[in-house]
Amino acid sequence: MKRVLIVGAGIGGLTAAITLERLGVAVEIVERAPSFRALGAGITIQPNATAVLDALGVTLPADDVWPMGKVAMLDARGRPLAANDDVSEGSPFPSYSVRRPDLHEALRAAASGVELRLGVEVVGVRPRPGEGVEVELASGARERWDLVIGADGIHSAIRAAIAPPESRRLRYSGQTCWRLSIDAPDLVPETTIERWIPGRRIGVVPLSRGGIYVFLVESAPQGSVAPGSDDVAPLRPRFAAFDPRLDAILERVEAQGIPVHHGDLLDHERLDYGRDRVLLLGDAAHAMTPNMGQGAAMAIEDAAALGLLWGEVSLDELPAALAARRLARVAAIHRRSWRIGQVAHWRGKIRCALRDLLLRLTPKSVTRRAIRDTWTPGIELSDALRAKLARDRGRAVEVSTTSATDA
Ligand SMILES: Cc1cc2nc3c(=O)[nH]c(=O)nc-3n(C[C@H](O)[C@H](O)[C@H](O)COP(=O)(O)OP(=O)(O)OC[C@H]3O[C@@H](n4cnc5c(N)ncnc54)[C@H](O)[C@@H]3O)c2cc1C
Repeated sequence: MKRVLIVGAGIGGLTAAITLERLGVAVEIVERAPSFRALGAGITIQPNATAVLDALGVTLPADDVWPMGKVAMLDARGRPLAANDDVSEGSPFPSYSVRRPDLHEALRAAASGVELRLGVEVVGVRPRPGEGVEVELASGARERWDLVIGADGIHSAIRAAIAPPESRRLRYSGQTCWRLSIDAPDLVPETTIERWIPGRRIGVVPLSRGGIYVFLVESAPQGSVAPGSDDVAPLRPRFAAFDPRLDAILERVEAQGIPVHHGDLLDHERLDYGRDRVLLLGDAAHAMTPNMGQGAAMAIEDAAALGLLWGEVSLDELPAALAARRLARVAAIHRRSWRIGQVAHWRGKIRCALRDLLLRLTPKSVTRRAIRDTWTPGIELSDALRAKLARDRGRAVEVSTTSATDA
């Protein structure tokens, strides 16, 4: 039986592990973190990804998720930029916000049949033609695997080991971002709010159990936010007096010493699904800016696409086959996400006024169609995966019935 090593137990690595395990593949994960630490803040998972999770039987407790419902897009002065509609109304799968640790817990539970080695860092991979892939660990140990999947995030060591230099470049979006989540039932807004202010963006997202997820984005030169900026104190003056509710949230975050996660927003200049039995997926293949809330969803879709290709092509052909299946789709989201981020931070009165007018004049039907077009490929992928898993289960039952009869 072919043995597969997944490097990285993030959303992409865990979903790939669940998919392969459901297909009967011998798969293992290594994760450099010594334990599953608190992974910070919240995340929204849209129907193209919840469809795949559903096909894989990954269920989150109802108490962990908050249906996205309506989204209020606001201009700098807090006036609506678009109709405050329930964007997922009529979708066969939900859109929800969830605390990252809760999502990880659900994925980990679903992957409980997969061996997971924590505190194990991969520092090198070398494809050995005809003999699989040699993996070097930080401990100095070497292992041999038939296929290695690099799901090790934006700063992927696996990508660095196998990709040409031009494929490793990251691009700074000009924007830096803080994220936090807090339990504050009295401050939870009725709907998700995203507010565009020249050079800044504010997002406030309701979570289940009286929680709130906040993201704050500011245009700034790369690395200009001083170390220690994960502290909320320097953040408050930057975003003060836009919205009294945000002021109250940040005040409470400071009083309770709640950690704030900060990072510059980067993406890969090129998308790369790997080569020579070393496959990349998720952020390792295509880190993108978060402006469409689709980065993790693309990692989840990658895993589904990998599941569909499994057994259809040889291991040597797998990276190229995955790229052929995924590149156009992911590149479109990657590009649009970048553009939305740039337009959202425009400065200049006339430019912003024209943009806001255009947004207000955009018919609802156009917005709805764009959203559906984003979700449909993932939902179709999940249908195909569900059918494949059902066929496989059917075959397994047939084999076990036949062997029982033979016995
Ligand atoms: C501000 C922000 C908001 C976002 N919001 C959303 C959203 O709302 N919806 C959405 O779909 N996406 C969102 N995203 C994107 C999403 O977070 C990522 O796309 C997703 O987490 C990528 O998952 P991954 O598994 O590919 O990588 P990661 O989550 O980075 O996981 C990689 C794992 O590999 C491990 N690792 C790294 N190197 C090694 C090594 N050498 N050896 C062993 N293990 C290693 C790491 O410890 C980590 O656990 C957002 C991103 C940002 C920055």
